[in-house]
Amino acid sequence: MRIGFIGLGNMGGPMSLNLIKAGHSLVVNDVRREMAEPQIAGGAQWADTAAAVAAKSELVFTSLPGPKEVEAVALGENGILSGIPQGSVYADLSTNSPSVIRRIHAVFKAKGIAMLDAPVSGGIPGARSATLSVMVGGDQAVYEKIKPALDAIGDKVSFIGDSGAGAVAKLVHNMVAICSTQLLVEAFTMGMKAGVPADALLKAVQDGAYGQGMILKGALPKMVMRGNFDRVTFALKLARKDLALATEVGREVNVAMPIATTVEQDFLTALAHGLGDKDMTAVVTVQEDRAGIKVRN
Ligand code: NAD
Repeated sequence: MRIGFIGLGNMGGPMSLNLIKAGHSLVVNDVRREMAEPQIAGGAQWADTAAAVAAKSELVFTSLPGPKEVEAVALGENGILSGIPQGSVYADLSTNSPSVIRRIHAVFKAKGIAMLDAPVSGGIPGARSATLSVMVGGDQAVYEKIKPALDAIGDKVSFIGDSGAGAVAKLVHNMVAICSTQLLVEAFTMGMKAGVPADALLKAVQDGAYGQGMILKGALPKMVMRGNFDRVTFALKLARKDLALATEVGREVNVAMPIATTVEQDFLTALAHGLGDKDMTAVVTVQEDRAGIKVRN
């Protein structure tokens, strides 16, 4: 395939090299021309503008810092839209705002051009080894058409839903990754001030139920999403006791624990609603009520 690639940074660099390796012919661009040296050495052509990249491509990828850059490169002067031929496809690999994606998608659609959001996860190692996960939003037939190119950059490529759905999925993923890191550090600071070294805590968490993936692979899909709160594997009142013991240690050793204390309030609310003898996962109903939507299928 003739593929245009704009944004050859930490992610775009290795992704574009993998497309070359898979046999695609590339036209590339970056505001910093020197970023294109490895691609040009690998046989790629350089183009001075996004419009010129698009004019030569059946498929154009962008991997840019964020919404502002993507909007400028897609819709701005000498942008992709001003050069892309009918029948070609534009796919944004950046982590982007779903509303910006939907706006660009609508402008492209009005001119008869298909646009997909296809954010990626897996970091620089995943980009180098072509083992990224790719979360695609837009028209499913267009997704099927460009899937062979996506398979050259990732080994977990999935169609998520309509335009913007890939961007939403990526933000959910990153929010979980970012916030759970902060939660782990919150717990570790409590544990360390209570006298246990970080590496011992790491081993305890890795070896325990949490570290074995019981939340993401067991409790979430099997209990929460099925609404299985009457099948008690760990009673809510016992989980609340454990959380109370942890926040008590935090108070004893003067560690502020904003995440744990907020979750503790949810457990108190669940207890007040008579859920103490249900499975601990019933606490999710407190957040479901706040959000006005149920995670349960
Ligand atoms: P980066 O800053 O290394 O790369 C961005 C590239 O875009 C740079 O080379 C920059 O010169 C170029 N650029 C900026 N404005 C441009 C313009 N107007 N025209 C042409 N080129 C332009 O960033 P990155 O780490 O490669 O991330 C790219 C995207 O992928 C971001 O949206 C990021 O959130 C996402 N992402 C990053 C990672 C990661 O681990 N780094 C992982 C997954 C997703």
